[in-house]
Amino acid sequence: MADFVSSTFSRRRFLRAVAVAVAPVSFLARVRATLGGEIERVELEPTPAAGEELKLTPEETTGPFFQPNSPLKNNFCEPGVNGAPINVTGFVLDRRGKSVPGVLLDFWHADGNGEYDFHGFRCRGHQSSDSNGRYTLKTVLPGLYPGRTRHYHVRLQAANGPILTTQLYFPGEERNDKDSLFRADLLVKLREIKEERIANFNFVLAG
Ligand code: FE
Repeated sequence: MADFVSSTFSRRRFLRAVAVAVAPVSFLARVRATLGGEIERVELEPTPAAGEELKLTPEETTGPFFQPNSPLKNNFCEPGVNGAPINVTGFVLDRRGKSVPGVLLDFWHADGNGEYDFHGFRCRGHQSSDSNGRYTLKTVLPGLYPGRTRHYHVRLQAANGPILTTQLYFPGEERNDKDSLFRADLLVKLREIKEERIANFNFVLAG
């Protein structure tokens, strides 16, 4: 485990990743939120220019490892789950930048060893965005498996809305450029507060 963390997410590499991740993006508002006991500023809404709409979160393939009927769960750090802890958080927004509560988010991903659970629901679970449109997933960094860069899978669905299936990626990964599914507009923003890693991504849904 320690080798995994130090070799794939050394502090130096992490800081380089952060430098990439915080490329200029303007935000309509910032809110103060409590994350892991630290008061931290969290991006709330990208700023749509007057008369413009936000770009929709792009769709990506579901892949072969999705399993339906995942449990209600936003903490994947259960006994037997290997990997470096990370909190994934953000908001679900509509095209005008308004937060959308009650959106179903169903996450699934490989554990820190790059293995999916096909017998149970390790690293699989769904939740709903809260009254502020916010979601939070406590999980681990997904490990690598052949043919793919590091990624999470997620399906989102607002009430009576269409399903959006997509994936999230990590900045600074050597395999990003070699993975044909990789998209830079699906990169999370990575930060480190003391010993805690936080990945931030805001989804934008149609409708
Ligand atoms: Fe996958």
